[in-house]
Amino acid sequence: MPKHIFVTGGVASSLGKGLTASSLGRLLKLRGLRVTMQKLDPYINVDPGTMNPYEHGEVFVTDDGGETDLDLGHYERFTDENLTRNSNATTGSIYQAVLAAERRGDYLGKTVQVIPHITDEIKRRISRIATDDIDVVITEVGGTVGDIEILPFLEAIRQFRKEAGRDNVCYVHVTLVPFIGPSGEQKTKPTQHSVTELRSRGIQPDLIVCRSEEPLSDDLKVKISNLCDVDAKAVVNAADARNIYELPLILHDEGLDDVACEVLRIDTDAYPLDLGPWESVVQLVESATRPVRIGLIGKYVQLPDAYLSVVESLKHAGFHHGAAVEIDWIQAEEVEGLLADGRLADLDGMVIPGGFGARGVEGKIAAARYAREELLPCLGLCLGLQTMTIEFARNVVGLTGANSTEFDPTTPHPVIDLMHDQRDVSDKGGTMRLGAYYAVLEPGTKVAAAYGEQVVSERHRHRWEFNANYRARLAEHGFVCSGTSPDRRLVEFIELADHPFWVGTQAHPEFKSRPDRPHPLFRELIAHALTFREQRLGAGVPHAVSAGVS
Ligand code: GLN
Repeated sequence: MPKHIFVTGGVASSLGKGLTASSLGRLLKLRGLRVTMQKLDPYINVDPGTMNPYEHGEVFVTDDGGETDLDLGHYERFTDENLTRNSNATTGSIYQAVLAAERRGDYLGKTVQVIPHITDEIKRRISRIATDDIDVVITEVGGTVGDIEILPFLEAIRQFRKEAGRDNVCYVHVTLVPFIGPSGEQKTKPTQHSVTELRSRGIQPDLIVCRSEEPLSDDLKVKISNLCDVDAKAVVNAADARNIYELPLILHDEGLDDVACEVLRIDTDAYPLDLGPWESVVQLVESATRPVRIGLIGKYVQLPDAYLSVVESLKHAGFHHGAAVEIDWIQAEEVEGLLADGRLADLDGMVIPGGFGARGVEGKIAAARYAREELLPCLGLCLGLQTMTIEFARNVVGLTGANSTEFDPTTPHPVIDLMHDQRDVSDKGGTMRLGAYYAVLEPGTKVAAAYGEQVVSERHRHRWEFNANYRARLAEHGFVCSGTSPDRRLVEFIELADHPFWVGTQAHPEFKSRPDRPHPLFRELIAHALTFREQRLGAGVPHAVSAGVS
């Protein structure tokens, strides 16, 4: 029977609970244990798919088309295991299931209540991923203890230990130990309060992970151990790391996985730790120092989490080339003004990421044109491919007014359009193309060379498609469709014959990049960006005044 680790958080949000859980997942995997992970989110949306990225950051898409919390991205990148839609459950989805059962009459006329019906459904969600091929399930509970909406989740995980047995469950609580400037001290009181709150719900943590700016002294650890009633060695310090990928090593040094194994009665002799593979990852990260500057032309640039997987993919590609990728966050709506002032001249490459809605689209089109004309390496993701196509149709083929029907339903040249079978559906939520789809690559293209494979699978999240009626006209001008769906109806990849790297994909390859296995398209983008930089600086092109958008 699989063992369970529950990770809760206290004191403040955004403490890196997801990264702590992911790091623990990796450490257990490095011991040869089979690990899976999930996130329980106390909010009422059924999934994050319809949420504005400013609310919760990026929507992470799984192979099976789940639109999930961005923490699943950390889980996948750290544990290198592909998850499914079952690895994310929200209060909304839990109530939806319970209410559907109530309408079907499954409760046989009983009063339906938070306890036991909602808590039972939460436990069912936890158990359903605890399959026979898994040794440890790590469940992160979103939010912070003390929140009203977290209570059913705490009650469910409390009951879970009673049912699964003491030795099969480990509670990890992540808190903050702030540094108070004037007194020059680190303060443990918030941690005490947070643990008191957790205990008032019947949960005694087995491990406390204390986030802090500077390392905690042993005295403070002993103090927390005494006041919160955990072993001193179970007070684990996660001081700020140089980079997120260092975290598993720090947490291992602090004893996190050893204590977790002890609590769960996992025989560490039978599962010895081999840190080697992860030490190599950290070494890669730390030797990535060659500067390279990539412009990210986005709509939500004030919240970098909205592009979390894109940013991580750029970094991974940098690690591969020994390069430290610096991101220039460029607000799409400001691109035209920045171009007029020559302020994009210090870029070595560009990413045009995905997005929905018209705001900023003209700026993305202008950016795509700039990259094409200046031979600047450019990677377009989903909406990025669409804006590159519109740009080429307008400015190279001369199709005035070319657009996507998403932004201009009456455009004379709908180079991006809904497929016929999608047009009549009024519920657009049902028509999204979600999850993994295969594409067949055209031999001899840059995309095929990058992948080194003929058939590839990538995750999707979009409705509009390249309009095949324009394929021949664009092709006459050197626009190459470098990959299509296996039935050849849908264009999946584009590139230009006479540009070093101006590549777009209808998919979201950023969801499949790993720190030690960069995605081929990002890897090639950075390779070309490094060459572009050498030529740019070698040719003595003066550094433009910094764009000033960050
Ligand atoms: N809005 C576009 C579509 O729905 C692109 C979506 C995206 O970039 N994820 O097709």
